[in-house]
Amino acid sequence: MYKFTTPLGDISVLLMGHASLLINWQERNIFVDPYSNVADYSKQPQADLVLLTHHHYDHLDEDALKHIVNEKTIFVTSGGCKGTIKEANVIAPGMSFNYKDITIEAVYAYNILNRKEDGEPFHPRGEGNGYILNFGGYRVYIAGDTELIPEMRELGEIDLAFLPKNLPYTMSDEMFIEAVKTIMPKNLFAYHYFKIDTERLTEQMPEGVHFQNR
Ligand code: ZN
Ligand code: ZN
Repeated sequence: MYKFTTPLGDISVLLMGHASLLINWQERNIFVDPYSNVADYSKQPQADLVLLTHHHYDHLDEDALKHIVNEKTIFVTSGGCKGTIKEANVIAPGMSFNYKDITIEAVYAYNILNRKEDGEPFHPRGEGNGYILNFGGYRVYIAGDTELIPEMRELGEIDLAFLPKNLPYTMSDEMFIEAVKTIMPKNLFAYHYFKIDTERLTEQMPEGVHFQNR
């Protein structure tokens, strides 16, 4: 569990594995991409808010959701999740959703280099979302399944970032470091990885970025 201070009070962050996060804010539980392969969700608290970046099975997992969702749970998702989650609030890059005092902004997440055999990117532009959660000016970037993309230059100041790192679906170590240099978040977690060499990544980390995986 990691704690960060925002103008709206502290947030604590639990990395559950893969792309799954649990953010606790003012006794509310915000789940991101809950995935039953990485945790026993029957032992998790109920979700006040669920953010789904896209519809792939490791991000939209009904086996995880059935344990944490109740009639009060609010969903914010990409368009591809709506078929499964009828009550979802769908946003696309450029759109935002307000939850209590938090603003949730959708941003692009997609592949340029990494493609399937048929030439289609694993994540086509516009299909999935990354999110920026704004806690009274403290901005948390959850990148989703993405490579280094030009839109990352326009994200603005990021206080805390979660960036994916695995091939072929997201970023290589080298691209990950390039993305870090582009975004320059104050605090950083790598997530969505199969394996990680934190020592090697730490060596290449630009100054001013607090790499939290160590
Ligand atoms: Zn995916
Ligand atoms: Zn994924």
